[in-house]
Amino acid sequence: MKNKIVVALGGNALGKNPDEQVQLVKHTAKPIVDLIAEGHEVIIVHGNGPQVGMINLAMSTASQSEFKTPEMPFPECGAMSQGYIGYHLQNGIREELLNRGMSIPVATVITQVIVDKNDPAFTTPTKPIGAFYSKEEAEEMISEKGYNMIEDAGRGYRRVVASPLPIDVAEKETVKTLVENGHVVITVGGGGIPVYRDGNALVGIPAVIDKDFASAKIAELLNADYLIILTAVEKVAINFGKPEEKWLSSLSAEEAERYIAEGHFAQGSMLPKVQAALKFLKSKPGRKALITSLEKSKEGIEGTTGTLFVNN
Ligand code: ADP
Ligand code: MG
Repeated sequence: MKNKIVVALGGNALGKNPDEQVQLVKHTAKPIVDLIAEGHEVIIVHGNGPQVGMINLAMSTASQSEFKTPEMPFPECGAMSQGYIGYHLQNGIREELLNRGMSIPVATVITQVIVDKNDPAFTTPTKPIGAFYSKEEAEEMISEKGYNMIEDAGRGYRRVVASPLPIDVAEKETVKTLVENGHVVITVGGGGIPVYRDGNALVGIPAVIDKDFASAKIAELLNADYLIILTAVEKVAINFGKPEEKWLSSLSAEEAERYIAEGHFAQGSMLPKVQAALKFLKSKPGRKALITSLEKSKEGIEGTTGTLFVNN
């Protein structure tokens, strides 16, 4: 059966610098092209934590240097990261397609994700971004720029931004049109550029939308059949890292909810993936989600490994 599949790529699919990323993306492209070769419609989402951190750090360092480059707001840094990562991904996938004799267009859409300005997440920002500062510098940034700064594990002070939930995808019709016409689309990179609606305007807001939640949202909006979250582990575990650790091959909605409540999944890493998989699963009967590793994605899709979320 041909499926519409949203594939979410984690940090291990990309690289720490441009050279490394170009090389890594060659491997990342293979499981994606395997799916395309089988006739599935594939939409790709990726994370951007280290990349947007690097861009933000470089831009803020340069703005404070003798060169006095303009200060780059965080949403603009997110847009830059979508371009930088999308550029490598679309070329990596294009090349792998051509190597297998397939001429299929691949494109990245700079994507904005609409959030609620009043999302409770904004009252307790949790995501550290950018450089480390001294206490004095941090105090100055709080008073001059109104940033939220926290002490990060004894390493110094860092700016923190909120992680609001995705409500809608501004470019969803464009993505839909491209997918319907057989294009491979890279979208909501890094969870999307967070924006809120202000009349006809979309206004960027410094925040980080979790790419796992954003991938579930775009999968829902595109009426996808299947959400595949590729990360560093082959399966989801309960009692992760403990002697009684147990790797799971499948999870029903009820089991996932119970394990979430019992605290089996780490916040900021596995929890958002399980929550995103669950949300997608429950959004419409027949939808499936899979969490597995990039390396094992072929086997995972064939049903021999990974953690499959199914309604029963
Ligand atoms: P990504 O960059 O793909 O989003 P993350 O590091 O955010 O990756 O999340 C994946 C990591 O979550 C795994 O590599 C693993 O170390 C960790 N993890 C936390 N809890 C669990 C769990 N219960 N089962 C499996 N992995 C878990
Ligand atoms: Mg993550």
